[in-house]
Amino acid sequence: MARVGNSIIKGLEVSHIIELLNKAYADEWLAYYQYFIESKVVKGIMKDAAIAELNQHAADELRHANMVADRILQLGGTPLLSPNEWMKKTNCGYEEPKNFDVVSILQDAIKGEQCAIKIYSSLVDLTRDKDIVTYDIASQILADEVEHEEDLQTLHDDITEFVDDLKKSLNK
Ligand code: FE
Ligand code: FE
Ligand code: MG
Repeated sequence: MARVGNSIIKGLEVSHIIELLNKAYADEWLAYYQYFIESKVVKGIMKDAAIAELNQHAADELRHANMVADRILQLGGTPLLSPNEWMKKTNCGYEEPKNFDVVSILQDAIKGEQCAIKIYSSLVDLTRDKDIVTYDIASQILADEVEHEEDLQTLHDDITEFVDDLKKSLNK
């Protein structure tokens, strides 16, 4: 039966929202895996602080994947059924960690968050006043992605500053 829940959507094609949510869903799984593997391979100074942050972010991305999948189902769509689809549908791609140094890992992760912020920001703009439920979910996720960028940037700056200070004290 047609969902009354979908009749509250104004001026947007439900199939278009589902398509955009599936692209975000692919991004979330890839972000989850990127954090998962980064937390395993990361090396270098203050890596314990980085591992704690990376693990926390992995858990958040998986929670986002859950939120997005549930909304796709509510709209009558089907979340991507195969990991093969993730690389085809992703907006933000996958940044394979090539250099395991903590500073490089954090830089890769920051790039991913900056892309996620752009994607959810455009989803919020699109759904505002049109699909209030998707709007609310996208806003909640956007707030988390903004926090992620800030956490990673702060940690990155702390580590690079610490290394610079260390170099200076050694050169005295
Ligand atoms: Fe996310
Ligand atoms: Fe994130
Ligand atoms: Mg954090």
